[in-house]
Amino acid sequence: MVGTTPRKTSVEGTEGVEEGVGLTALLVAAARAIETVRHDSLAQDVYAEHFVRAASACAGWPLRIQQVPGGDANPLWGRFARYFGLRTRVLDDFLLRSVHTGDARQVVLLGAGLDSRAFRLDWPSGCVVFEVDREGVLAFKHRVLDGLSAAPKATRVPIPIDLRADWVGALVDAGFDTGAPSVWLAEGLLFYLPPAAETYLIDTVDRLSTGGSALAFEVKLEKDLWEYRDSRLYTSTADQIGIDLLNLFDGEPRPDSAGDLAGKGWSTSVHTPFDFTRLHGRGPLPEENDALAGNRWVFANKP
Ligand code: SAM
Repeated sequence: MVGTTPRKTSVEGTEGVEEGVGLTALLVAAARAIETVRHDSLAQDVYAEHFVRAASACAGWPLRIQQVPGGDANPLWGRFARYFGLRTRVLDDFLLRSVHTGDARQVVLLGAGLDSRAFRLDWPSGCVVFEVDREGVLAFKHRVLDGLSAAPKATRVPIPIDLRADWVGALVDAGFDTGAPSVWLAEGLLFYLPPAAETYLIDTVDRLSTGGSALAFEVKLEKDLWEYRDSRLYTSTADQIGIDLLNLFDGEPRPDSAGDLAGKGWSTSVHTPFDFTRLHGRGPLPEENDALAGNRWVFANKP
C-alpha cells in the first residue's frame, strides 16, 4: 500500500468509545485522572476524570491511587497508569517545544482519543489542533466537553474518520495547510493499525510535512507482543477491567517506521520510556517479563 490510498475499511461494531479499541482511550483517560491528583504528578489533565465518569463501561474504575487495591503495586492502576502519566508528560513537552521553538502552528493528533491537549496546553497564538479519531470516540468526547463548557486554547478541528480509510482528504478539506510546517503525534496508536496503514500513515506524514515539521510516535518491538503475553500488565488489564490488549493489537509483523523516516531524511531519536523515568525521577522502571520492555518513543524532525 506504500504510496497509495488505502481502501475504506468497515469498522462495524467498533465505532464507540465503550467497545473494542475505543475502550483503550478510556483506559488512558483513567490513568491520566489518577496521575493528575498524585502528589508527585507528572501531568495534569482536569478533563480526564470526567470522561471516565461519563462512560458506563468505566463503572467502578478508580480515579485516585488511594482507591486502587494495592496502590502503586497494582500492575494496572499503579505501574501502567504511571506509564501513561509519563507518556502524557513527555509528549506534552514534545508538542510544546515543537510549536514554541519552531514555526509550526498546525498540530495533528492522530488517534487523538480523549486527549484534551487542545484544551489544557498553552499554545502559541494562531495554532490549530486537528484531532483525528473515529466518529463514535469524538462524539463521546464532545458530549463530555460540551457538558463542562470546556473552551479550547487553540483552534480545534475534529476529524471523525477511521485511519484505515483515506484520512488525508479529510484533513486537507478541514484546512490543513500542506505548504506550512506541522507537528504530528501518534500516541498509543500504531500497534492497533494494520502494518500497511502504519506505513501509509508514516509515508503520508512525510509527504504532508514541509521542512521544520516534527513527529512523535510510539511503537512496540514486535517480539514484545508475544514474548510478554503473560506479563502482569496484560493479564491484570484483562482481569481487572476486561480489556484484552493483545487481542486489540494488530498481530502482523510491524514496519520499521523510524528507519523509514530516517531513510527519507528525517533526523530521528528512539527512546525507551525508562529513559524518561530516569530523567523525571519517577515513572515505571524495568521489571521481569515486562510488557513495556518493547515500547519505544520515536521523535523525528524533518530538516
Ligand atoms: N492518543 C490518545 C491518548 O494517548 O490518549 C488515545 C490513545 S488510545 C490507546 C488509542 C486510540 O486510537 C483510540 O482513541 C482509538 O479510537 C484510536 N484508533 C485506533 N484505531 C483507529 C483507527 N483505525 N482509526 C482511528 N482511530 C483509531
